[in-house]
Amino acid sequence: MMKFPEVNNQLFINGEWVDGSEDAVAVYNPSTGEKIADIAQGGTKETAEAIAYAEGAFAGWAATDPKERARILHKIGSLIEENLDRLALIMTLEQGKPLSQSKVEVQTSADSFHWNAEEARRLYGRAIPAPSEHHFLTVYQPLGVVGAITPWNFPSNMIARKIAPALAAGCTVVIKPASATPFSALALAELFVEAGLPKGVANVVMGKSSDIGKELTTNDTVKKITFTGSTEVGQLLNEQSASTLKKVSMELGGHAPFIVFDDADLDQAATSLVTAKFRNNGQVCVSPNRIYVQKSVKKEFTEKLLEAMKTVEVGLGIEDKTVGPLINEEAREHVEAQLKDATDKGATILHGGKRPEDEKFANGPFIEPTVIDGITKDMDIYYVETFGPVIPLIEFETDDEVAEAANDSEFGLASYFFSKNIARISRFSSALEYGMVGVNTMAISQAETPFGGVKHSGFGRENGTEGIHEYVYAKSVCIHD
Ligand code: NAD
Repeated sequence: MMKFPEVNNQLFINGEWVDGSEDAVAVYNPSTGEKIADIAQGGTKETAEAIAYAEGAFAGWAATDPKERARILHKIGSLIEENLDRLALIMTLEQGKPLSQSKVEVQTSADSFHWNAEEARRLYGRAIPAPSEHHFLTVYQPLGVVGAITPWNFPSNMIARKIAPALAAGCTVVIKPASATPFSALALAELFVEAGLPKGVANVVMGKSSDIGKELTTNDTVKKITFTGSTEVGQLLNEQSASTLKKVSMELGGHAPFIVFDDADLDQAATSLVTAKFRNNGQVCVSPNRIYVQKSVKKEFTEKLLEAMKTVEVGLGIEDKTVGPLINEEAREHVEAQLKDATDKGATILHGGKRPEDEKFANGPFIEPTVIDGITKDMDIYYVETFGPVIPLIEFETDDEVAEAANDSEFGLASYFFSKNIARISRFSSALEYGMVGVNTMAISQAETPFGGVKHSGFGRENGTEGIHEYVYAKSVCIHD
């Protein structure tokens, strides 16, 4: 295996690197199955300690001049950029995505720090018209200690999108990264130290998820839980947080519709679909998962899609091809089960669908990028998130039919459609019950725009001007002269 960069493998609490009270566990490279290193593990005790230190650091950090908080956050952003190659290599080795995609993610993390640094200085309140001799003001105050729990699929950016606005607002944080990908989190923590973030302002704990999650959600000192992950775990954390009435944000699963209308630019739609679907091997909450193509253009679109598939290559993460491995064997079996279920019920695989044969892929959960046609509602893939490299094609005839079908999902995160007709663009932008709509584009996630879902995809927004508001409360101040 390519040499893994030096990264601390301990918990990061109150600015110190500490061993946990539990046995260390190994982290593996999903491309090769090789062990990367052991990682320290804590549990309830360390989480409680980290919360106490975060609480101790809160008053000082909240009182820090917003301009100074912004300076430190910009510094973190700049350090991420300076360390981009190293951070990307860490990510690719522990998570599996192709190296150039890791670089894009690391840059996106830096963008979140830079954007939210500016938001620290623009968290404007309001002066409200008041009777004479009165002054009504609204000011935004930081909530306090934030517990952040993040998934493995974007091990850097999911953290950046939470803690950059939290720190910008004046909150302090305890982060629990996913167990498969802790090194990306710890490498960020190293940069916090270098940037001069005061001790205790950001802490990272690893260990048994359920223990850490329980402490974060039930400890009354924690005032906010921000979670990205599966709907099932999100529901559990939301329930647990109710005991202490925390403010909660949930970025959960998705099952994005992607609609190709008869007036679409079919080349643009086909190439956009291929680029977006195979990003991170389809392990993306906003990945297009139901591809609705209007009957009159279905044949032509499918031909263009299959042509574009010729550019899609499988490789070890480090080889930097289009797709790497899935995160683990369970993930591959889930994709294979969806394909089997669909083909048993009459769908046809047009491309891929098998494990790649090359010997070098024998030790990782690889699967060929796949196009499958003839998907119907009775198939699991129609309603259940795939989280893998599969393009499922569904034919439709009318606008009303596809509007209803696209909204027929428990999820409501991202949606996309391709059309050049202004009436359709207007109608569907409004009709789609999703937190995000991409029209003739897949680029729906950037620091400037609010990211988040509705329905079982959760609530709360990250980035945009909305992001920082998840970490503050509005205080109303009424003054009489
Ligand atoms: P997951 O829910 O299994 O895990 C997410 C995090 O929660 C991990 O850190 C995990 O260790 C932790 N966790 C698991 N059980 C826990 C418990 N009982 N208490 C506390 N923490 C617990 O999800 P995953 O497999 O890591 O990620 C994939 C899912 O995340 C997909 O459903 C995907 O759609 C979703 N996701 C959503 C977004 C979004 O922004 N909406 C972004 C990325 C991923």
